[in-house]
Amino acid sequence: MSGIHPDDPDYKYLCVDRKALMQLQTVPFDGKKNCWVPDEKLGFVAAEIQSSKGDDITVKTVEKMDTKTVKKDDIQQMNPPKFEKIEDMANLTYLNEASVLHNLRTRYASGLIYTYSGLFCVVINPYRWLSIYTDSIIQKFKGKRRTEMPPHLFSVADNAYQFMLQDRENQSMLITGESGAGKTENTKKVIMYFARVAANIYKGDKHCVEQQKVGNLEDQIIQANPVLEAFGNAKTVRNNNSSRFGKFIRIHFGPTGKIAGADIETYLLEKSRVTFQQSAERDYHIFYMLLSNAFPKYHEMMLITPDPALFSFINQGALTVDGIDDVEEMKIADSSFDILGFTYEEKTSLYKCTASVMHMGEMKFKQRPREEQAEADGTADAEKAAFLLGVNSNDLLKSLLKPKIKVGSEVVTQGRTKEQVLYSVSAMAKSLYDRMFKWLVTRVNQTLDTKNKRNYFIGVLDIAGFEIFNYNTFEQLCINYTNERLQQFFNHHMFILEQEEYKKEGIQWEFIDFGMDLQACIDLIEKPMGILSILEEECMFPKADDKSFKDKLFANHLGKSPNFGKPGNASKGKGQSDFELHHYAGIVPYSTVAWLEKNKDPINETVVELLSHSKEHLVQTLFVQHKEAETTGTHKKKKSSAFQTISAVHKESLNKLMKNLYSTHPHFVRCIIPNELKQPGLIDAHLVLNQLQCNGVLEGIRICRKGFPNRIIYSEFKQRYSILAPNAIPQGFTDGKQVTEKVLLALQLDPAEYRLGTTKVFFKAGVLGMLEDMRDERL
Ligand code: ADP
Ligand code: MG
Repeated sequence: MSGIHPDDPDYKYLCVDRKALMQLQTVPFDGKKNCWVPDEKLGFVAAEIQSSKGDDITVKTVEKMDTKTVKKDDIQQMNPPKFEKIEDMANLTYLNEASVLHNLRTRYASGLIYTYSGLFCVVINPYRWLSIYTDSIIQKFKGKRRTEMPPHLFSVADNAYQFMLQDRENQSMLITGESGAGKTENTKKVIMYFARVAANIYKGDKHCVEQQKVGNLEDQIIQANPVLEAFGNAKTVRNNNSSRFGKFIRIHFGPTGKIAGADIETYLLEKSRVTFQQSAERDYHIFYMLLSNAFPKYHEMMLITPDPALFSFINQGALTVDGIDDVEEMKIADSSFDILGFTYEEKTSLYKCTASVMHMGEMKFKQRPREEQAEADGTADAEKAAFLLGVNSNDLLKSLLKPKIKVGSEVVTQGRTKEQVLYSVSAMAKSLYDRMFKWLVTRVNQTLDTKNKRNYFIGVLDIAGFEIFNYNTFEQLCINYTNERLQQFFNHHMFILEQEEYKKEGIQWEFIDFGMDLQACIDLIEKPMGILSILEEECMFPKADDKSFKDKLFANHLGKSPNFGKPGNASKGKGQSDFELHHYAGIVPYSTVAWLEKNKDPINETVVELLSHSKEHLVQTLFVQHKEAETTGTHKKKKSSAFQTISAVHKESLNKLMKNLYSTHPHFVRCIIPNELKQPGLIDAHLVLNQLQCNGVLEGIRICRKGFPNRIIYSEFKQRYSILAPNAIPQGFTDGKQVTEKVLLALQLDPAEYRLGTTKVFFKAGVLGMLEDMRDERL
């Protein structure tokens, strides 16, 4: 690593001390004997081959000295010691699961959490704060090429920045992984990096001092995060600060490469959490932050007694979270609002709406005897909610108990049972919260939209990776569909790059576009008569239910689409699933229960009408759009998003995202959760292997192996492998390419196994390992 010197104090946090590493290597390595064998607990363990008989191979494991017999196909080849803790796994002689796991594991144990695998930067969540994001380290990565520096997120970010300036092309960074894998932390670090290296206004600038509370643009971009997290993050079983939405942040740069503005797009906020939480989880942070002692003055305004246990929408699970101080977070979020230029009224309106949700949860109803009609059981809480929402409490209750509906051209009132009313209250709370969140994002974007000239952007995508749970439903389908599209984008990008490299080197090879591998599954989900279209159609049809939806799915796809199937034996959640999809990452069984409902915004029109006339400016804004869409709907070509189903909106925003991404030069970061205990230093091998499968790292390797994955420049080949055929090489000086050609001919290597490019020789998978073995025998 020429970019960082061993005497540098930061060296030990970032680099491998190869000399020390080699000295540790005492046992001689034998490429024919040393190998990896599967292990139930550790994934793979090192072993030595003792003997073989047909397909059976007897090995002795290195650590435990166990002797066991395994199938030949289960054994994976081991790389020679010089590859230990290698920075880019694409350079491994043997690219296999076992070696990838071993490399990631040993690097992780040394605190080296970032590793490249070709186009991917893989990062394993350290669950402890490492000194790798300091200012001194930021300065070191600035302007350096990827190969000059050890693997790091900053290197990926800086490269994106340099490519943007040089190629005059938009860039993107796609950060994916399971919940808790570290996507959001890495996203924050990327944003921080750009704010440091491409700041427009420097600290101490007169401009900043004059504007007291309101921050400069870089601060504002960074401070957007605390407010988004307050409203969009929550404690889950997996992650104490789990983002319950996806986001794409674009940072725009001006003509001189300075930050000129930013915008944020969000995807699919989890609405159900507003009114329901599992026992170990919490509702969105903002509820508990508002109830904390940070600002007692707000409590009165919100008409609340500051105790989360009193509010049934938010007290179903945990009330506090390890490592999160709600008082502190509230102070941070509140000042972030100021930095972002929210007025006092805007800020407190959000707080009041949030509080109204809590009051809604306390509204009580009872059933009238012998009537299909409910009535209010006390009105105190409805009054509070109504007051905060700026509407009359009687009107609010009426719209819930006896909503108006259109029957033909007439408007009639409809009676509601207690159960139906409770459902309407919950729908109202969720819809209000969701609209609030969207408004918040739009308002933040207003601030980040400066009038500065914009030339190019770098977009950072922080979105949930592929999910295979025991129980998979509509939300998983949306996430997995998104990931199919993202993986297709990756495969296609890799295809383009490989193709270009082969062309540049003048070698004959038609690389296959593996993006097409994913098309069938994507079509099955998104095309007309695909799963989402059928779902949308059913949502418009008053008599449809879960069963009619499922029947339609089967009628259209069973036996007709190879990626669609009945839940099979392979499925984990077989008992509770209705169909399964064959995704690239694996077979996922889905349940169709409640999809129709989940896909609609079931808030009743009378409530919307009422709220759109609220005296509170914010509430009115949140609901008035919906009304406009309704009244002008017939004149507009496209329905406003407020009127569409969730899946239709998602499909549209995903298409927009993909269009955006295809216009960029992408960079891929894959986050990995090391264990489910949130513990530092502990690697759960099977958990990690499963993620490597789902996040496309192994897929990337598979594709790579279809071409010529190993490549060496001629001079290096000459230096290392001339020894294999000393007699074939002419006396005197001969250039690298000639030597390479002569050596390979002398070895009688099958010409299909290699290609001679202009500057490099390319090998099919496994060939280089064979040459390496032959070299070992000579030495
Ligand atoms: P995700 O967004 O993928 O669900 P997060 O980014 O929220 O995951 O990370 C979950 C938790 O893991 C964080 O709250 C933090 O405690 C820890 N974590 C993640 N990445 C890092 C990192 N690079 N360094 C230290 N801790 C981290
Ligand atoms: Mg997150």
